[in-house]
Amino acid sequence: MSEDLPTGVQRRTFDGAERLATRGEPVYGEPTDVQQTESAAAHQNSESSEDGEWRAWNPNRSKLGAMLELGMDTGLAGGETVLYLGAASGTTVSHVADFAGPTYAVEFAARPARDLLEAAESRERLFLLLKDARKPETYAHVVESDVDVIVQDVATRGQARVALENRQFLAEDGRLLLAVKARSEDVTREPEAVFEDVRTELEEGYEIVEAERLERYHTDHLGVVARPL
Ligand code: SAM
Repeated sequence: MSEDLPTGVQRRTFDGAERLATRGEPVYGEPTDVQQTESAAAHQNSESSEDGEWRAWNPNRSKLGAMLELGMDTGLAGGETVLYLGAASGTTVSHVADFAGPTYAVEFAARPARDLLEAAESRERLFLLLKDARKPETYAHVVESDVDVIVQDVATRGQARVALENRQFLAEDGRLLLAVKARSEDVTREPEAVFEDVRTELEEGYEIVEAERLERYHTDHLGVVARPL
């Protein structure tokens, strides 16, 4: 089966299993194949070890990784400018910064942001913003307008509203790649009912291209690909 993975993301074998992988410094104890890369580099000068080792991208720890594993139409090609909302300690955004262009990582909690700073040290395209994603005016002067992609995984109440408030940064032909956690909206309601409400609210500013439950990797989460209206 052929699949469209962004440039800079590959399927590679780790411990006998095929996994998605990007190239950069490891961040969360994920398996790497530095030896393979080094021996390849010895034979091919074109593959320099400066780009770092290949590191497995764990879809059980990353909603965007799960969306790619499930073959969702993320539209990612590699090299895009990305605004990432809810970066936490950098598990997913570090993979994104390995294959994307400038990557602005918004996180409002200081503790995970400390680990994120460490992940950013070896990634010159990754910029940390210790900001509240509900207040885009506080980082509007830093983030370039017309970003190609917004990735959002904030796991907080009002997830559709956060996406709508940050839509201003997205290029006309850009994409929103959103992970919605049902329990963050309302633990007492059926996830399907929560997802329906989130979709309806999102449609105030976005056209939903694709929506799929991420169940195989993340309980009660919906992955959404959307375009700005
Ligand atoms: N996306 C991360 C990953 O895959 O590595 C995991 C994100 S975790 C599920 C959700 C994160 O969103 C938490 O670190 C939380 O502090 C952050 N968050 C929640 N509400 C936020 C807000 N309004 N502004 C910025 N960050 C927020």
